[in-house]
Amino acid sequence: MSRPTLRFAPSPNGRLHLGHAFSALTNARIAQNLGGRLLLRIEDIDLGRTRPEFVQAIFDDLAWLGLNFDGPVRRQSGHFSEYVRARDALAVRKLLYPCFCSRGRIAAAITEREASGARVARDPDGAPLYPGTCHALPGDEVRARIDGGAPHTWRLDSAAALAEITAPLVIRRFAPDGSQDTVPADPARWGDAVIARRDVPTSYHLAVVWDDAEQGISHVVRGQDLEAATDLHVLLQHLLGLPSPAYHHHGLIRDETGDKLAKSKGSESLADLRARGVTPGAVRAMLGFA
Ligand code: GLU
Repeated sequence: MSRPTLRFAPSPNGRLHLGHAFSALTNARIAQNLGGRLLLRIEDIDLGRTRPEFVQAIFDDLAWLGLNFDGPVRRQSGHFSEYVRARDALAVRKLLYPCFCSRGRIAAAITEREASGARVARDPDGAPLYPGTCHALPGDEVRARIDGGAPHTWRLDSAAALAEITAPLVIRRFAPDGSQDTVPADPARWGDAVIARRDVPTSYHLAVVWDDAEQGISHVVRGQDLEAATDLHVLLQHLLGLPSPAYHHHGLIRDETGDKLAKSKGSESLADLRARGVTPGAVRAMLGFA
C-alpha cells in the first residue's frame, strides 16, 4: 500500500488565522500518526481575490508555526488546462450544461417562484437551489450564445449525474485514531451546482477533487464547514473515475460570539498575534497542540 498522503490547502485571499493554524496542525499530527506525508496546496483559482503577498504570507506563517511540508507546493492557478479537460469530459457526456444566468436573474427567478407559492429548496450552505432556467434552453440557442461569446458557468445536470450512480454513493470517513466507517452521500441536496465558473474553468469543487487525485491524497483533513460539500465531491470523483480519499472533518475554532473565524470578518491573523509578541509555542498550546 502506498504511503498515506494528506494536504493542507489554504486560499491566499487574506492572512491565515487561528482556524487555519488548527487545521494545519491537525493535518500534521494525523500525518505523523499515520506515518504519512503532508503536502501543501495553494487554492488560488479566485484570481480577483488572490494576492502574491498572501501566498508568501502562507509560507511565512506556516514556517513560523514550525510546520514542514513534503514535496513540491501545488498552485491551482498553474493547472487550469487540467480543469478544462475535466470540465469538458463531463460536458461531452451531458453531465454539465452551460448557464447564462446572472446572480440577479437567478434571484429574480427565485423570488418569482416563491411569490407563486412554491417552496424553494436550499443547499446545505443556505443558498436557494438553482431553478434550472438554462437547463431548458434549446440546443441551437445555447450554441448561438456560446458562439457569440456570452459569459456562462457550467452547472451539474444533477438528474443526469445521479442517473449514473448504480451502487450506493458513500463517503469514507476516518477518525484521528485511524478507525473508519462509511456514510451515505446525498449530492442531490446541492442541486445543479456550479462546477466551472464564468471567469475560470473550474470551481472549488472540481479543482479540489481533481487535485486530491493528482496529488495522491489518501486522507483529507479539513474543517466541518466543508463536510456537506463532500457529498458533491464523492459524486464528482465517481463521474470522473477518480479515487475517493477518506475524510475527517475537524471542529472549527470560534470567536467569543461563537462564530467561526473568517478573513472577511477581520478575525485576528497569525501575523497580528506574532506582532503582539505571541510565540508559536503559545499558539500551539492555545489550540491544544502543546
Ligand atoms: N481552500 C479551502 C479553504 O481555504 C480548503 C479546501 C479543502 O480543504 O478542501 O477553506
